[in-house]
Formats: sequence, C-alpha cells, structure tokens
Amino acid sequence: TKKYDYLVVGSGLFGAVFAHEATKAGKKCLVIDKRDHAGGNIFCKEMEGINVHWYGAHIFHTNDKDIWDYVNQFAEFNRYTNSPIANYKGELYNLPFNMNTFYRLWGTKTPQEAKQKIEEQIKGLNITEPKNLEEQALKLVGPDIYEKLIKHYTEKQWGRKATELPAFIIRRLPVRFTYDNNYFNDKYQGIPVGGYNKIVEGLLKDIEVQLNTDFISRREEFESIADKIVFTGKIDEYYGFRFGELEYRSLRFETEVVDTENYQGNAVVNYTDSEPAYTRIIEHKHFEFGTQPKTVITKEYPLTSEKGAEPYYPVNNDNNGAILKRYQELASAEKNVIFGGRLAEYRYYDMHQVIGSALVKAKRELS
Ligand code: FAD
Repeated sequence: TKKYDYLVVGSGLFGAVFAHEATKAGKKCLVIDKRDHAGGNIFCKEMEGINVHWYGAHIFHTNDKDIWDYVNQFAEFNRYTNSPIANYKGELYNLPFNMNTFYRLWGTKTPQEAKQKIEEQIKGLNITEPKNLEEQALKLVGPDIYEKLIKHYTEKQWGRKATELPAFIIRRLPVRFTYDNNYFNDKYQGIPVGGYNKIVEGLLKDIEVQLNTDFISRREEFESIADKIVFTGKIDEYYGFRFGELEYRSLRFETEVVDTENYQGNAVVNYTDSEPAYTRIIEHKHFEFGTQPKTVITKEYPLTSEKGAEPYYPVNNDNNGAILKRYQELASAEKNVIFGGRLAEYRYYDMHQVIGSALVKAKRELS
C-alpha cells in the first residue's frame, strides 16, 4: 500500500475542500502547491495590517444555504456588499445600472421616467439581430449607458474593438428600477472577517501541505506515493500540451501603499473611459471596513494571453473548445485521477461554485 490515499495537486479552494472532506472521511492526503503559499487565487497578503486580495478582488456571494453554512464554519463573514462606482471622465456613476445611475445620467426620478428614457434610447436604433457586442449592448441599454459605462471598459478588457467582439459575451445587462447599488442578487454575501486565508487554514488544518512543489516536474515520484491524484492544475499541462495550449485572458496588478487613511471611499472603482489604461482600482481595506492609518490600492490592468502570465479567464471560443474536448476524452478514461477546479476544467468558477463542485466530487469519491 502507498503512503497516501490522495495526492492533491493545488491548494486552492477545490483542492483544499477535497482534502478536507477526504481527511474527515479518514483518508490520508498530501497537498502540494507550486506557489509559496496555500489558497490559490483567494490568497490574501497582509500589508499595513490590511488583507490584500493578491490575485484580484474576491467577494463571496451565494444563494445556496449549505455552501454559506459550509464556509461559515471556518470564518465569520461581515456584511460587505459589493457596490462598485464607475468613473467616466471624472463623472461618477453607481453600478450596477439602477435608479441612482439613471438619475445621474438623465435626471430621471421615477422608475417610469427611467424606463421611458431607456425605451427612447433604444427605439430608432433598429437592431434586430445584433452582429457583435456593440450592437448587442446598444440593443439592451441604448447609446448613453453604452458609451459611458460599457464600450471603452469592454474594449480595454479585451484589447479589441466592441464591433469585433462576439455578441454572446454580453447575454444580458441587468437594469434595475430601484435605488439599489448591490451588485449581486444573491441571498448571502460578505467577506470573511480576518481574510480568506482563515478559510484556507481551516480547510487544511492538520493536513500535510508542501509548498514550492511543482507536480509536473516531479510527477513520477508523486504518482508513486498515492493511490489517487486530485489534479487542480491546467489540464493541457497535465497532458504535456499534446493537443495544443488552451488560451487565457490575464491581468496585471500594480499594488501600492498610499499614506492616507482613505483613498477612494469604496473598495471598487471602475474606470470606464479608454484612459487610464487600468480598468479598476481596488482599495482593499474597505472589504473589511478597515481603519488602519495607511491604505493599500491595486490598479488592475488587462493582459491578453501573454506568455508566462497568470491564467485567469478561459477564452471560450471554438478553437479552445475543440482542444478542451480532446483533453477531456483522455481525462474521462483515467481511473486514478480526479480533475477539478477552474484550471483542470477550463471553466470560470466563482468561489461558491468551485466549493459546490468539490463537495459533489468528494462525496461521489468517498461514499
Ligand atoms: P486556484 O485557486 O487557481 O487553485 C489552483 C492551485 O493549483 C494554485 O494554487 C496553483 O498554484 C496550483 N497548481 C497549479 N498547477 C500546479 C502544479 N503543476 N503543481 C502544483 N500546484 C499547481 N469568485 C467569487 O466567488 N467572487 C469574486 O469576486 C471573484 N473574483 C475573482 C477575481 C479574479 C481576478 C479571478 C481570476 C477570480 C475570481 N473569482 C471570484 C473566482 C475564484 O478565484 C475561483 O473560483 C477559485 O479561486 C478557484 O479555485 P481553484 O481551486 O479551482 O483554483
């Protein structure tokens, strides 16, 4: 018999939840991660006493009571509500699009006035079958909102003209006829008090973890010590890129300490014009209502598939879909490898979704 029941590659949410459940069921796990910290992309780094969301702003939200209870075992959640501000040429608007946004744009005061205004904007455009993202957005919200809050932001994000982007990227654009700036509609929302690391520490408590350890370069050694492997890295890398590389969009973060107590008064401010080059500034202390004397901000720059960049968002197009399918055929024939998480499934997952998926796969495996 081998030393471990499961070798878990990756200490992100998928790997950590799986390892936690397997350990609870009496199995012996070794978790490895090539980074120098556990937690994957929800990792927080402490700076000036502030939990800095090191791989981008993370706001926990879910409608699923079981998943909410699950994470609340490991940390208490605060009442943080995501309500981003958009800055367009120095004008400030509330997001998501709601009565506050419409009032600022047009001075409309009642839902009826706002609805009428949007209808007027859309009428006369005569778009029936939108051919690209621009037409799709115009058809949904009209030219004012499109120009100030969608067009340039989206073009920065994708590095391409909105007329050259497919319409399906924007399926719907929620407009709300209430004065409600809450970005999410979910029943539960918040930030773990003390940061996301508390959740990761709770999940991995009493489990053996080896950091700075890459699976790919030592795979024979690792394959020989465990009965089964739970792989949460990139599926194309697992198979030596034999069918080609799956593409990702990435981000570049510029984080700085600012010697002021409150820099922008909100955790998230989007910059929706073509200038500046960054899409957002995150002020991390506001996620936890911090009162530290200094502050830490992060400017977020889009990065389109650059070698060596962190893989963040899968690029869902026909070519990547076809490549993925070939890897998935190999994966489904594996007897002793479980693939899970955003990189192994090449799928954008929110935190609650990746937890849900890990719980389902762990249950299936362990029962
Ligand atoms: P990861 O966290 O990426 O974990 C994978 C781990 O595997 C990593 O630690 C990696 O180092 C390790 N690994 C990979 N390959 C190897 C190897 N060969 N050997 C050893 N280790 C390896 N979700 C929300 O719910 N709300 C949000 O507001 C939100 N904001 C986000 C913002 C950004 C910019 C991004 C990119 C994501 C956001 N998410 C958000 C999603 C959230 O980050 C993911 O759902 C979650 O982190 C996925 O966990 P995972 O375990 O699948 O992957």
